[in-house]
Amino acid sequence: MFFRTKLFPFLLLSSLGLAQSPLPSCRYDDIPSYYQELTDWSISLLDTLYKLGPSYQPNDLVKVTEAGFGSDKEVRHIILNDLTSLNNAAKTKGIYLEVQSAFRSYSYQEETFQYWVNQDGYDAALVSSARAGHSEHQLGTALDFKSAAGPAAWDLEDWAKTPEGAWMSEHAWEFGFVMSYPKGKQDITCYIYEPWHYRYIGKDKARALKDSGLTLREWLWQAQ
Ligand SMILES: [Zn+2]
Repeated sequence: MFFRTKLFPFLLLSSLGLAQSPLPSCRYDDIPSYYQELTDWSISLLDTLYKLGPSYQPNDLVKVTEAGFGSDKEVRHIILNDLTSLNNAAKTKGIYLEVQSAFRSYSYQEETFQYWVNQDGYDAALVSSARAGHSEHQLGTALDFKSAAGPAAWDLEDWAKTPEGAWMSEHAWEFGFVMSYPKGKQDITCYIYEPWHYRYIGKDKARALKDSGLTLREWLWQAQ
């Protein structure tokens, strides 16, 4: 298992004073993500190259109703406390969020991606949706939010300009959630700006990521 990770060559390179290999360009491949255990949820790198297998399935899914949302979508139990805190903190500010989408299985992601292909064509689908295995939603720690009273966030020009989206972009990190695909970073993240898509990586990592100024993909690449 050890040799499956990049850690070993990285240590070698480090000892030689060489830089870690650069972030790959946004090409398309099907490389198994280095960290595929359920306990690796905070460091599993998923992008257009790296993916989870069809059998990766969280075993602790709970409905987000337990965090005070109306939706019956599911997330991993490990994020429930912070997700509940986020929702409660938002409500105290008059911010009413809802969950549009959360855990998606490998097979459901196949359907989801095909939906966007049918809707927008294959090339457009590649940058707005993930092929099966490549979606952070399969981790059970990623959610698409929306304003409780509004349409799906992707039907708006920029959800981050609504009170709910703005609150999330300012405060989500305080609860361990980070926007995976920020504005103006498509060349790095490989996906279009998605102000509604947040992934939980824990409070400490979310703070460190914010302080680093990196995108999640760059951050995770360094952690591999
Ligand atoms: Zn999403």
